[in-house]
Formats: sequence, C-alpha cells, structure tokens
Amino acid sequence: MSNPLYDGLFGKHAGHTTPFLRLADGQVITHQDFLATSAQIANVTAQIGLKPGDRVAVQVEKSPEALALYAACAQAGLVFLPLNTAYTVDELSYFIENSGAALIVCDERSEEKLGEVAATLGAKVETLNGDGSGTLMAQAQVMPASFSTVDRDGEDLAAFLYTSGTTGRSKGAMLTQNNLLSNAYALVKEWRFTADDVLLHALPIFHTHGLFVATNVVLAAEASMIFMPKFDLDQILGQMPQATTMMGVPTFYTRLLGDARFTKDLAAHMRLFISGSAPLLAETHIQFEERTGHRILERYGMTETNMNTSNPYDGERRAGTVGFPLPGVELKITDPETGQTLAKDTVGQIEVRGPNVFKGYWQMPEKTAAELRADGFFITGDLGKIDADGYVHIVGRNKDLIISGGYNIYPKEIELVLDDQPGVLESAVIGVPHPDFGETVLGVIVPAPGATPDTDQLMEAVKGSLARFKHPRKLVVLDELPRNTMGKVQKNILRAQYQAMFT
Ligand code: ATP
Ligand code: MG
Repeated sequence: MSNPLYDGLFGKHAGHTTPFLRLADGQVITHQDFLATSAQIANVTAQIGLKPGDRVAVQVEKSPEALALYAACAQAGLVFLPLNTAYTVDELSYFIENSGAALIVCDERSEEKLGEVAATLGAKVETLNGDGSGTLMAQAQVMPASFSTVDRDGEDLAAFLYTSGTTGRSKGAMLTQNNLLSNAYALVKEWRFTADDVLLHALPIFHTHGLFVATNVVLAAEASMIFMPKFDLDQILGQMPQATTMMGVPTFYTRLLGDARFTKDLAAHMRLFISGSAPLLAETHIQFEERTGHRILERYGMTETNMNTSNPYDGERRAGTVGFPLPGVELKITDPETGQTLAKDTVGQIEVRGPNVFKGYWQMPEKTAAELRADGFFITGDLGKIDADGYVHIVGRNKDLIISGGYNIYPKEIELVLDDQPGVLESAVIGVPHPDFGETVLGVIVPAPGATPDTDQLMEAVKGSLARFKHPRKLVVLDELPRNTMGKVQKNILRAQYQAMFT
C-alpha cells in the first residue's frame, strides 16, 4: 500500500512537532498540526462522496487551510486543481466546465454564482475564505484527525494546473505524482535545502512556482517557511532576518532594490535568493549583487514541466541565462521546421524530456500531439540557445517571434539595446501587422522614474547597433507594461492594442 506523493511529502512528517508554517503574526503551525488539518479535510471529501481521481477545483485566498487542502487531495487520491484568484466568475466557468470538477472550493463571495455553474455539472460547492472560515473547515473541525491514505501509483494524476494564458487560452496540464516528486527531490539537492532552511514564501499558491517549487521543496527537505498572504514589502523586510532563503519572481527583486531599507546587512545572513517565472534582467542581477553581495540564482520552468534548468549553486550564476538542465532532464534546441537538433549558440525552439514532463493537456489531444512528441520531448514554445559553456539562454517565446519581410526577428535582441539606453527602465518589442512586410517592429518604452527619454535618440542608438530590418518602425512610451500576477509581460495585450497602427 502506498501513495508516493503523500508519503514522500506529507506522511513522512507524521508525529513531528517541528515547525512547518510560520505566519506573519508569529503563530507556528507544526507538521503534526498541519497533517491533522489535512486529514480532517480529507475526511470531509470522503463524506461528501468524492472518489479517487475526482478533480477538486480550488479558487481561494492563500492560507494554511488552502495548503492543507492540497495535502488532503494527495492523501485522498484526488486531483488538485488550483485556480488564479484574479479570475472572474465568468472566467472560472470555463475552467470548471473544462475540468469536469466534482468539487469546487471557493471564497464565500463567489459561492452564489459558482453554485449555478456547479449545478449544471452536478458538482458540489464548499467555501473557504482567506481567514480559514467557511463550510469546508466548519465540517473539517468535527472530523477525526486521521485518514487512511488512499493507495496511488506514481503515474496517477496528482494535479491539474492551468497555464498562465500568456500566449492564448490557458491549457490544463495533467501532472502525475512522479512529475511533482522527481522535481522536488532534484531541486532540494540542486539548491542544498535542509531541515535548517526557512523559506520566505510570498508567492501565490495557485501557480507552479509557489505551490510546487516552493512548497514541495520545503516539505521534501523537512524545512519550514514564513508563509505570507502576498508580497508586502514591509512584511518581507521585517521577516527576512528570520529566513535563510527566498524564492521570487523578478518583480520581487526589483521592488526590494527600490527600497533603501533593503541593505547588505539585512541580507547578509541569507543563504540563497532564487528567481524565475519571467526573465530576470541582467541589470537587476548585477544591482542585486552590488547591493547585497548575493548572486540571484535564476531557474527556468513552466506549468507543464515544473523546473527544467537552474543556474549552479556552487559554480558561476550567469546573469541573463537560466543555467543548466537539472539532473534527469534532457534539453535540446531544435529547428522549428525540421525538428533537427541545432548547433551550439544557434537559436531554436527549446525541447525538454524527463520525469518532470507532464502527461498532456486535459481533453486537448490535438494540442498534446502537436507539442508532446512520441519520443517524450515536449516542445516548450520558448526559443533559446545553449552557449559554448552549456548555459541555456532564453530568447523569448515562439509566439512573440516577429517575421517581417521574411526575416526572423527576436524581440529580446532589440529590448536589450533599448533597456541599455539612459532614461529607459524597460521595454517590450512586439510585431504588429504591416501591409508591405506582413509584420513590423514596434518598441514600447517605459521611462525610468523621473526621466523623459527622447525617442529619436533611442532610435539612433538602435540604428547604431542593429541591422536595418530589426529597427523599430516606431517607439511608443507607456507608464508601465501590462503584467500578470506572476510578473509576466502580456505581449498579447500590447499586440491587440497596437494592431491597427500601420494598417
Ligand atoms: P501559456 O502557456 O498559457 O501561454 P505561460 O507559458 O506564461 O502561459 P507558465 O507555465 O506559467 O504559463 O509560464 C511558463 C513560461 O514562463 C515559460 O515557458 C517561459 O516563457 C517563462 N519563464 C519561466 N521562467 C523563466 C525565466 N527564468 N526566464 C525567462 N522566461 C521564463
Ligand atoms: Mg506556456
């Protein structure tokens, strides 16, 4: 009898009075307390009639109870399906209908509307609010604090995670127990996590970064985490002295750097800062080292695969790269037309294979077949190259590639030049329809605080360093770039906004 995910991450802590979650108000939830709560929730799911393999769609605020619901699903053999808290009820209907969830757990505020969707599906609804109140915990509290773990195989589905929807409609990625476990173990080793670690956790738990990378690593390493509802600069600065490590998206690090209270002294005792989910600007990496003496460790992953590559713990952490494939993960760069592996330093599509790679998109056989090759390689949709030293560089997304007059243009190359100019905070380069060239290049500039960049001068700078076909036809200035909750720039929104500019 076994359940690899539950046993490997949760069950092994049974009876341990060691700290697991440290809350902002000083309260500590031990491993034992946490397991008791999750067992109570597992009993609720059984009582309302859920069966192993059923899907549980969850859209709730971040809370210890929400995390216990993840553990409960693992123990009861249910498929955990967390959803972005930013989704509106209308958007949620798609995910709930698409996934065929048997139970929906939501905030009280969405109960009424989601109840209608649930009714059409024959799904049950329970509520869980940010403070732990609601119908789920009301029932859990009177349940036994132990639950007989449901037998599962490593190849059984553990979670459905919807992709962020940066390039189109979100897709439900089917992740097995082994997908999650293999990655957690690889990362613990790679990043040297131990029971002495205390992770600053300010990420959302509906996304692979905060849920699987952060939480599973902490559980597997028997470490603990400072569990914050969201990224709050004052709280992060206040809690950092108690932490040893931090995981964040690049905007966490730029916001820390923007605050004078974030000093070398404050970060001196920290063991490791990790970044991912979106590109970390080389400039941020450098500024961070200048301020703190720490080199941020950047890694690369996605919903469908968990983590694929990481900069080295001991070796050189190279700014602007995502390091090397993790042990057990194969990564190659291929020609999008032929699928042939390309030479070093040549840009192509990034493909990965390993125990971390998902089983396919839920109810999307054609999309799965188009992106997941029969030999196990997954076509990530990202473009990149491997340099002479083996470091992987991400150049952008396949869908962001600009094809103008038959030439392939990688936006990042132009963004790097623009970002380097005085008065420019950041930039986004996109392709927009053009009657003669099919597409043409548009540069969107965000000025540095207080600066008013001269677009003519910027254009001159670009002309000095890039071939003519790469020159932006126009530069527009915006106060900020549209970003989602993970800090990803939403180029699809920019493309829609400027699609008629030249037509
Ligand atoms: P969708 O697939 O729905 O368009 P998405 O790809 O943004 O959305 P996620 O799975 O959350 O959804 O994000 C994975 C993507 O994030 C990767 O494919 C890559 O483009 C980007 N990414 C992750 N880490 C990094 C990194 N360190 N540097 C650059 N890009 C990164
Ligand atoms: Mg994607």
